[in-house]
Amino acid sequence: MRAARAIARETKTGRPVAAIAGGKRVRTPRPASPRNAVEETTELYGVRNWGSEFFDVNRDGELVLTFEGTRGTPVALKDIITEVQQRGLTTPVVLRFPQLLDYQIKKLAMAFKSAIEEYGYRREYTPIFPIKVNQKKEVAQEVLAFGDRYNLGIEVGSKAELTVALAMTKNPESPIICNGAKDEAYLRLALLGKLIGKKVFIVLESLFELRMVMELSKKMKIRPFLGLRLKLSARGSGKWEKSSGDLSKFGFTTTDLLKCIHTLTEERWIDCLRLLHFHIGSQVTDVKRIKEAVKEAARVYAKLRKTCPNLDYLDVGGGLGLDYDGSRTNSESSVNYSVQEYANGVVYSIKEVCDNEDVQEPIVLTENGRMVAGPHAILVFNVVNELTLTNGPIRVTNSEGKPQIIQEMYDLYSGINGKNYREYYHDVLERRDEMFSLFNLGYLSLEDRGLGQELFWGVCERATKFAKLAKHMPEEFEDVERMLSRKFICNFSVFQSVPDSWAIDQLFPIMPIHRLNEAPDRKGYLADLTCDSDGKIDNFIDLRDVKEALELHSLNGEPYYLGVFFTGAYQDVMGDYHNLFGHVHDVFVVADGKGSCHITKITPGHKIEGVLKVFGYEKEDLMAEFRARVFEGVARENLKPEWGNQLLREYDAALGSYTYLTLE
Ligand SMILES: *Cc1c(COP(=O)(O)O)cnc(C)c1O
Repeated sequence: MRAARAIARETKTGRPVAAIAGGKRVRTPRPASPRNAVEETTELYGVRNWGSEFFDVNRDGELVLTFEGTRGTPVALKDIITEVQQRGLTTPVVLRFPQLLDYQIKKLAMAFKSAIEEYGYRREYTPIFPIKVNQKKEVAQEVLAFGDRYNLGIEVGSKAELTVALAMTKNPESPIICNGAKDEAYLRLALLGKLIGKKVFIVLESLFELRMVMELSKKMKIRPFLGLRLKLSARGSGKWEKSSGDLSKFGFTTTDLLKCIHTLTEERWIDCLRLLHFHIGSQVTDVKRIKEAVKEAARVYAKLRKTCPNLDYLDVGGGLGLDYDGSRTNSESSVNYSVQEYANGVVYSIKEVCDNEDVQEPIVLTENGRMVAGPHAILVFNVVNELTLTNGPIRVTNSEGKPQIIQEMYDLYSGINGKNYREYYHDVLERRDEMFSLFNLGYLSLEDRGLGQELFWGVCERATKFAKLAKHMPEEFEDVERMLSRKFICNFSVFQSVPDSWAIDQLFPIMPIHRLNEAPDRKGYLADLTCDSDGKIDNFIDLRDVKEALELHSLNGEPYYLGVFFTGAYQDVMGDYHNLFGHVHDVFVVADGKGSCHITKITPGHKIEGVLKVFGYEKEDLMAEFRARVFEGVARENLKPEWGNQLLREYDAALGSYTYLTLE
């Protein structure tokens, strides 16, 4: 935990860090809740399936951290949020646990160590962090500091990422793998890295790049470390399957690969060829696909190794997935293998091929981003409001004196039972259409239209209840249930904080971080703050299926917090500014192993003026413009000048405030 402590000392404010005590919190004693309520909600949200390594639920029904370093006294996430609030910040926040980055790196390195020992593999393993997964400085710093003991390297896919890698990697043994399309400037940077003693590998994707790098290297008198990216016929599995196979946008075809080798040999540059690379896509759900790809690449390595004396590295890319839904299956949100099984598969497959071809094994590199960075971050936000189409019990107790159509709907509502519910449901659908026609023709009042709608949803609600009691719930009622589900308005933007949920329907574990000693009494989906109908989350993890509604608690006047877990990979950099919701506060938390957690650093999220700046508005200009508008208004509307000043102060304060709701 050396690296985590390094961050721990670096408080931004210079104030001593406060400790968030674990078990010994002073609070008004609550009646102990029945143990089984906690057990039931823990099971409902699958905490022990997807989160057993990191989280658990305590007897007060709060989600607690249980990873290494918190041992002894688990710390509740809710207490961390309270501490954040005491520092004057409000949710949404991202809680980041650098120790979880360390933990994942260690798990990966240990798995390879053990595989190498088990199979008698004669070369070493080096983990590589693909920085595109999370380029945040604190994340990269932590990964590099902790990974130093394993000579962890960085994979970059652009010039910008390379500038980070060149400056931030201190260990001369740490490889820097340069992927992505390259121009002369990119190549020059990479070659400069080699000049200052770094192990920079330039991974070529095309013959065009080969010509460019050879020309430039000759001019600069540097012999580079070259790598070649393979286009394998083996494919990944899951969402990113198309990143691999013959039609993938990356890598050399066999013909071009041979041309490349030919050119390198002709020019007496073959000794520069050091590495083969492939990447079959992220979140590979089936370990069999990984092994197949590794075998294919190992075979190419073995064939080439015979004539390429310095070809020493095989980089198998990323793909090691996270078990987001905890099902341990090859469903899109899961993986059917453990980290150890992955390591065994990689090491054994390479060894088998190399033994068979009688060549020396390569040094193994893997580029695992999702697995390393995913778990370290948790988005926490509060639920603002809940909305439904039905408003509880229907207001009327009899329908006398009401128009015929309303009377009929009322009869359906009061007469529905376990035998007739389907028929009554179909009837009410017809009645509703009729009701709207009558309204449009001017025969119904607005009050009657309101009553009709209430009765319609009332029938739907009752029909669904009966349908659920049936042995097989008729499919049409699944749709009805979806329509009836509540909408929980939440204080966040999907587009800023969980973009993959919107862009590629990725599932993340989501659950309340407290009140887990109460059985949830609501079901619904999450709507964010944006004015976009896509700004919602309506798919949730489930062991056997995907849930369209999440079990939640009714609001009780106290803030209600939900956590979205495993958001440390890809979400930060892909997020955008829809409706000008900006970055959220980043809160770094370290556990001291003695039962306390410390907030070691807070990077405040965007103020309104900060997001506006991204789009070209300078605060001073806006203030000047607004001042002019106020003066015009004062002159036109005869406002008192004090009022004008007050308005200016409020405008100024608004520019300096958080872009999210502050309701807590
Ligand atoms: C994105 C990427 C990775 C990371 O993949 P994960 O599945 O997140 O581990 C590794 N290598 C390359 C070349 C990539 O493009």
